[in-house]
Amino acid sequence: MKVVVVGGGVTGMFAAYYLLKDGHSVTVVDENSQNVPTSVFNAGLIMPSAGALPTIGLQAILASYVGRSGPVYISLAEVLRNLKWFRIGLRKGLHGFEGPLTALGESSLALYSDFFDEVGMDVDHQKGIVSLYRNKEHAKRAAAISKARFVDAEEVSRMGFRNIGGGAYLEDESSVNPFKLFDALRGELRKLGAEFVLGRRAELIATRGHVASIRAGDQTLTADRYLVAAGSWSAGLSESLGYRVPLLPARGMALIFDTGGREVVTVSALLEDDGVGVTQHNESTLRLTSFFEMVGFKGEFSEKRREWFLDRAKQYLTNFGDLKPSEAGVGFRPCTPDQLPLLGAIPGYDNAFIATGNCRLGVTLAPASASIVRFMMEGKAEPVSGDKGWSAFDPARFR
Ligand SMILES: Cc1cc2nc3c(=O)[nH]c(=O)nc-3n(C[C@H](O)[C@H](O)[C@H](O)COP(=O)(O)OP(=O)(O)OC[C@H]3O[C@@H](n4cnc5c(N)ncnc54)[C@H](O)[C@@H]3O)c2cc1C
Repeated sequence: MKVVVVGGGVTGMFAAYYLLKDGHSVTVVDENSQNVPTSVFNAGLIMPSAGALPTIGLQAILASYVGRSGPVYISLAEVLRNLKWFRIGLRKGLHGFEGPLTALGESSLALYSDFFDEVGMDVDHQKGIVSLYRNKEHAKRAAAISKARFVDAEEVSRMGFRNIGGGAYLEDESSVNPFKLFDALRGELRKLGAEFVLGRRAELIATRGHVASIRAGDQTLTADRYLVAAGSWSAGLSESLGYRVPLLPARGMALIFDTGGREVVTVSALLEDDGVGVTQHNESTLRLTSFFEMVGFKGEFSEKRREWFLDRAKQYLTNFGDLKPSEAGVGFRPCTPDQLPLLGAIPGYDNAFIATGNCRLGVTLAPASASIVRFMMEGKAEPVSGDKGWSAFDPARFR
């Protein structure tokens, strides 16, 4: 089978990887050029338990933080432009996602382990993540919910953090360096014979329930099956098929620091009260991430927001000193209002599929999401098969 995957982010590349391994011929189209990768300005945490943790769910996002004093901001203009998304979010999105997300995440953990064994490339893979809270009782509650080991303030301080009441330590969860994961995936796809069309924006050309081709700049690509894995841009792309899906970008920022050999933290962490991710990938690379802002596709953060971010680092990281970022980037999380991904056939189409909507867990969920959609494209699974709980991810569910 010949497949074109639109979107060379972590989801599209894992889908291409599984399709290639099953013997198909795959072309990946991405509008970014080779040197400007996406899916890399994130924390790189592979963290299924985050699907169910209470403080960072949509409930907290929609109900607790509207204002620019914390990590979350939702602009009024974005709410007014997307009333349907927010209406569904408030009605449906607060509960019910935890089980399917955690199961998908756990299946991803196993697939990541196979991937790392197979690829054998060093992606700064580190076991263990700690969720940290200012309030000790919140940490105990999180540890109970996610079946993690509670760690007290003293143990947390040995990990490099201060002003923390306690944490939930998850020894089976892990982190990677997103740049290296990206390189490993691209390298592996090349080895398996993938073709890349980079630096060209794809458009779907369709008639009567059938995608005929993809236009990418001056090239026309034809295939047996087409996969839309274009992250937050998937909604705009699939609108030309008459498929309107509530999917909004939630932007965030990653700051990368050269520590000059200094060990700032010994364990990857999520500072839950302020939504800050912290990972020291190796002796000299520290990564901090933050912000969940629903403001459309704007790519610039103000100086004031950056200062807020750096202040968090100084407040919580004992050995941060006055490190200055060597690199900064903005990422967009593709979010559905019910917090569940969209995986399967595009409604009304016999040869077009979609894989997106993993929002704040796109790195964690990419292998499992990609693997499911690959089976659907191969006709090895009913598009929506209730027995595995995949119906929760049905792309037609918002119709
Ligand atoms: C600050 C931050 C921290 C995060 N931390 C974590 C974390 O620790 N763990 C975790 O699991 N997740 C995390 N995430 C979420 C994760 O980064 C996203 O969910 C993930 O990147 C989504 O991957 P994707 O491949 O679906 O989409 P994307 O990464 O957005 O990739 C989509 C690709 O499609 C391409 N594209 C779009 N339109 C077109 C078109 N018309 N033609 C051709 N190409 C097109 C784009 O160029 C892009 O390369 C974080 C996100 C942010 C912003």
